[in-house]
Amino acid sequence: MLDKKAHIKGKGLSCPFCGSSSIQGGFVEIEAGKAFQGMECIECEAEWQDLYELIDINPYLAQEVTNERIPNKAPGLASVLGQRDRN
Ligand SMILES: [Zn+2]
Repeated sequence: MLDKKAHIKGKGLSCPFCGSSSIQGGFVEIEAGKAFQGMECIECEAEWQDLYELIDINPYLAQEVTNERIPNKAPGLASVLGQRDRN
């Protein structure tokens, strides 16, 4: 019997149809505020989709990403900044 609540409570670590932990996940697709992952059970060959929802953000990790250096290939920006790196 399909028990969605038990599957979610168990963090999706086992097959929601037969209970086997021999499951594998495919690619994760991201949509606005949601993510989907195609799943399959090795044991009973059932296929389903796990659905994830955006529930939080991590501001520190976000800052690391935005602090990535802008490549020197942007001449317009480099001249605006005063050409600190001369090759
Ligand atoms: Zn199964």
